[in-house]
Amino acid sequence: MSITRVVEWSGPLRTAREIFPDSAPEIWHEHREELVPDFWQPGDDSYLLALQSWVIRSDGITLIVDTGAGNDRNRPQVPRFHQLRTPFLDSLAGAGVEPETVDIVVNTHVHYDHVGWNTQLWDGEWQPTFPNATYLIPRIDRDYFDPVNEHRRPFPRTDADRLRRRGSHLVFEDSVAPILREDRALLWQDDYRIDANLSLESAPGHTPGSSLLHLRSGSDRAVFVGDMLHSPVQLHDPEVNSCFCEDPEQARATRRRVLAEAADTRTLVVPAHFPGRGATEISRDGDGFTVRDWAPLGLVHPGAPNVST
Ligand SMILES: [Zn+2]
Repeated sequence: MSITRVVEWSGPLRTAREIFPDSAPEIWHEHREELVPDFWQPGDDSYLLALQSWVIRSDGITLIVDTGAGNDRNRPQVPRFHQLRTPFLDSLAGAGVEPETVDIVVNTHVHYDHVGWNTQLWDGEWQPTFPNATYLIPRIDRDYFDPVNEHRRPFPRTDADRLRRRGSHLVFEDSVAPILREDRALLWQDDYRIDANLSLESAPGHTPGSSLLHLRSGSDRAVFVGDMLHSPVQLHDPEVNSCFCEDPEQARATRRRVLAEAADTRTLVVPAHFPGRGATEISRDGDGFTVRDWAPLGLVHPGAPNVST
């Protein structure tokens, strides 16, 4: 089996204070050596992230985990990714992946930065980017974010909430609805086995349908955790949520459970957005966890190759 990282975009996105409102400022300084320069810029408190996809090749299957933000989209809720134009498909080709050869797409959850390249604009219509793939989408997130179920979600109270809600409708319409319409989606719930080496498990909190992809190859283990982790700070203090977590208590409980399991089984933890080495083995450390060993992937920084295996 192989794991390849294909980077769509990397850079600063708002401040650490904004993204992790419940983190103590001291924890950033305490772990400064680990966080700088890949994850945090202490000068202006910038939080650094990567939008990236993970390509897994297993027993003749080509699978992509999460599909970034995508090109050409209206994203009033995230101006940085509004009408984005990146050479992501060229980078994917650089990893040896042509869209028609992809067998499976996994969306760990239905946020704009995980479903974008599900589709591309073709003759003015949103079409599946990977025409032969089965898209594995958590049924609970499909239900939760589908605008027809709007009434089930909390009523947006502020202008910012209303903008986010409008944005999430746009995401559904351009990145999820076309997949459903073209009958390319497989909606799953609780758990789902892809093959002998790969399986999905529900891990709610960040969104109600957030999920994990488990991989095993011989004695090696990896778990793709999506947005359960946005920064190594959350290893040291698993109580720290990102401001994007929909159910804060559930997100904390899920994070603790999954990290404990990964530490005890020496499983490589692969978050969606880590720049730097991208993935890490962890060990227990007091009430939290710590980096045991970074994955041997190329570093992400401007000018670096967008592909590393
Ligand atoms: Zn994300």
